[in-house]
Amino acid sequence: MSSFEATNHYFRKAAAIMQLSPSIVEHFQTPQREVKVGLTLEMDNGDVRTFHGFRVQHDNSRGPYKGGLRYHPHVDPDEVKSLASLMTWKTAVIDVPFGGAKGGITVDPKTLSPAEVERLTRVFVDKIHDVIGPQQDIPAPDVNTGAQHMAWIYDQYSKLHGHSPGVVTGKPVELYGSLGREAATGRGVAIATVEALRMQGKDIKGATVALQGFGNVGSFAARFLVDAGAVVTAIGDHTGAVRNVHGLDVGKALAHVRKTGGIKGFDGGDALKSADLMLLESVDVLVPAALGGVITRDNARDIRASVIVEGANGPTTPEADAILDERGVLQVPDIYANAGGVTVSYFEWVQNLQQFTWTEDEVNEKLKAKMIRGFETIWKVATEKKVSLRTAAFLVAIGRVGKARVLRGLS
Ligand code: NAD
Repeated sequence: MSSFEATNHYFRKAAAIMQLSPSIVEHFQTPQREVKVGLTLEMDNGDVRTFHGFRVQHDNSRGPYKGGLRYHPHVDPDEVKSLASLMTWKTAVIDVPFGGAKGGITVDPKTLSPAEVERLTRVFVDKIHDVIGPQQDIPAPDVNTGAQHMAWIYDQYSKLHGHSPGVVTGKPVELYGSLGREAATGRGVAIATVEALRMQGKDIKGATVALQGFGNVGSFAARFLVDAGAVVTAIGDHTGAVRNVHGLDVGKALAHVRKTGGIKGFDGGDALKSADLMLLESVDVLVPAALGGVITRDNARDIRASVIVEGANGPTTPEADAILDERGVLQVPDIYANAGGVTVSYFEWVQNLQQFTWTEDEVNEKLKAKMIRGFETIWKVATEKKVSLRTAAFLVAIGRVGKARVLRGLS
């Protein structure tokens, strides 16, 4: 099942509980705008190449469209559509005043020089500048894009529309970015984990955690979990996995990854087969923070953790979701668990509009409050309606978006 079908599956499950009419279901499954542009570029060697760029704007009932831009050879319209709708539900569940969008360019940026990537980014802005903007649609980094790309977009858009730092988030801190943005998703995952355990009457202190993925999300989540008292007993990435039942030194693991490019060979624990990381005994919390579709019907029955906190987007297939629910494993869904990033993106946008900067402590405090409130909201709905946290998150999100749309009038 593709990520598009998976998102629609969860959406339809919640829509059925809400008894949404088929016409409203169709409305929410149809993006408000899909833009496809040709991007023709002169390469460094004088050749001319044309790339395809996309921007899908799913829904703006609650505010300007919001969502990342990815540069990847597999970017296709279907995938972008699914990710755009996920953003609509994510911004609604964490309650930031945005809608949902996603975009990207079908390109392997590793095959381009930095100057070519910059020109490609600027051509993309030239082609979509009239459908993005601080009050219209606010892109952000995603796979293979980062703060530098956002700086180029801000610059190119501002040449056409005047000084507009609020047109993108995830900018460098030196250029209207927000303190705390880099760590925000991992920080949010750690807060979600603490809340999930607390609601189950368990303490984060001494809880054992295994993380798949030790990049931006996984490594910050690991650090904040250890700060909160958890014991990180296993870490895996694309190079391998390492385990130490007494706890891995996250700082040393990170230094090893920075030096060697991966966790493989880290001598703070024993080597482990990557696939076994998710099936370890004596692990309380599993944090998938790498790829989508890694928890499937083939391994869901063998996962021993009692809590799964989804740092990655779409790590669990619908078949696995059903198996885990049936087994009583608490799944903290991606649309809530990894929403810390978009929350601090919202804070960045607010600071840009106010032309005022907040301290890192202010950002972190406000993020914590949003994450805790978000958890309490979905937990309450899950308890009242006797549904999973995932279904509860979709119920909350669809309810909020639907209410805003009805108040504004259908369009
Ligand atoms: P990243 O590129 O910084 O890190 C990815 C990690 O996954 C790396 O440690 C990499 O080694 C590991 N990995 C890759 N292939 C793997 C494999 N086959 N097996 C095991 N590990 C593998 O990416 P990130 O920003 O940390 O994002 C991770 C996930 O979180 C993605 O699903 C992303 O969509 C999602 N996410 C990220 C953010 C954010 O703010 N960065 C926000 C929301 C969701």
